[in-house]
Amino acid sequence: MKKRKKLELHTKIVIGLILGIVFGSIFSLSTTKLEIVSGGGEKEIKDWQEIIYFKKDSVVKSFDANSQIGIIKYFKNSKDKKDLLVEVKYPSGNSEKFEAITSIEKVKTIGMALKPIGDIFIRLLNMIAVPLVLASLIVGAASLSDLKHIAKIGGKTIGFYAITALIAISMGLLLANIIQPGSFMPPETKDRLLETFQDDAKTRIDQNVSLNIVDFLVNIVPKNPFAAITEGNFLQIVLFAILTGIFLTQIPTEKSKTVINFFDGVSETMIKLVEKIMLIAPYAVFTLIAATVAEFGFNILQTLLLYSLTVILGLALITFFEYPLLLKAFTKIKIKDFFKTQRPVIAVAFSTSSSAATLPVTMDVCEKKLGVPNKIASFVLPLGTTINMDGTALYQAVAAMFIAQVYGFDLSFTQQLTIVLTASLAAIGTAPVPGIGLIMLIIVLQSIGVPEEGIALIIGVDRLLDMCRTVPNVIADSLACVVIANSEGELKKIDTTDLA
Ligand code: ASP
Repeated sequence: MKKRKKLELHTKIVIGLILGIVFGSIFSLSTTKLEIVSGGGEKEIKDWQEIIYFKKDSVVKSFDANSQIGIIKYFKNSKDKKDLLVEVKYPSGNSEKFEAITSIEKVKTIGMALKPIGDIFIRLLNMIAVPLVLASLIVGAASLSDLKHIAKIGGKTIGFYAITALIAISMGLLLANIIQPGSFMPPETKDRLLETFQDDAKTRIDQNVSLNIVDFLVNIVPKNPFAAITEGNFLQIVLFAILTGIFLTQIPTEKSKTVINFFDGVSETMIKLVEKIMLIAPYAVFTLIAATVAEFGFNILQTLLLYSLTVILGLALITFFEYPLLLKAFTKIKIKDFFKTQRPVIAVAFSTSSSAATLPVTMDVCEKKLGVPNKIASFVLPLGTTINMDGTALYQAVAAMFIAQVYGFDLSFTQQLTIVLTASLAAIGTAPVPGIGLIMLIIVLQSIGVPEEGIALIIGVDRLLDMCRTVPNVIADSLACVVIANSEGELKKIDTTDLA
């Protein structure tokens, strides 16, 4: 009897992703239902015409049928919840009242119930990321043997990352200028978005990010590397690890050998661990995507469709046009083979929205599939994960232009050049975890004098765009890895055996 061919892991992950989208869409959260927990118990309401909040018999706020998020957020953000009364009016003319309310939420579906499996998966990958960056960069820098070699590879890496970031930002600016996504937003939509998301925006703005190049540089130096490790401050960890790696080559071998072997062992263990963690990836990706799709407010996507499409178009252009061109120009790897190796990387990046969580997978793929030697992969990839964020940079350029357009600012050429500079720095400063690109966008807005509260306009679709922008963020790291390995004559043959 012929043995049935077992599905490869990457195929299973892609299937998990697609099924997750389907499952999430079927069991998506309804935008016309709410669960109100009040003195009278739990009650599901649906298809309301108007929902009115009262305080001491006077109306404080009313919402129409399309304002599910606004209704929830208003309750969440109001300070004296116990004084709030809610009246729900239905199109039939009936109405009901609720008092002593403790929560108003969307009605959960099974699409979200499985999410803890996905959360465990992300936590496991994040658990690995910090020790992996530290250990592999120390070993990577140490195994590049001498300072000159490190400077050469480091220079090439940073040069490559800088050029691709500039291309990404320019692409973002070009598209935002041509498409003008912010010029078509009706003022009522603008007001509604600003009102609904103003508190979310405030939480981000309160983090007080600002651009001072001197402070930025000073802060890259950790006062205490162990604090940097516990806080997951990747830039500081990277600096500490590279310096440690470099100076390990400057002390007698009998001493450095033990340290290098130790970190080499740590790094290999982490990679081994990730291979095992990846066995649950298909299921985890399924649950993560299902929950995100189920939870995502698709009517917000409609409102911000042009903006979202502009970002996604830009991301697609750099991923499927620029990167293949660079791959062709600098290596002999077939474009098709390269992208096939990237399938697990793309699926994990897309479902976790985190370059750091994806790093262990990227490393595994670059070494085992793309034939990049460990000493190059372990230097270029952790560095890239931390500083190379083409997708984020492009997104920040488009988002800044979009917000400026909605507010009616006509950005001059010099202001757009400022975006190029600040978005490059903001992307470097963006930690490789979900949602930070949006916070760093505040720096870009400040630099061109656009109100930072404007991020409220785009928060509603940020999760979706975060998933999308993380994909080029990680693919560019793999690309840099093969380009640099090839330029050093160190690229082994790509393993195409199981690239169906
Ligand atoms: N989620 C992105 C990453 O990890 C960062 C961001 O743009 O928020 O690459």
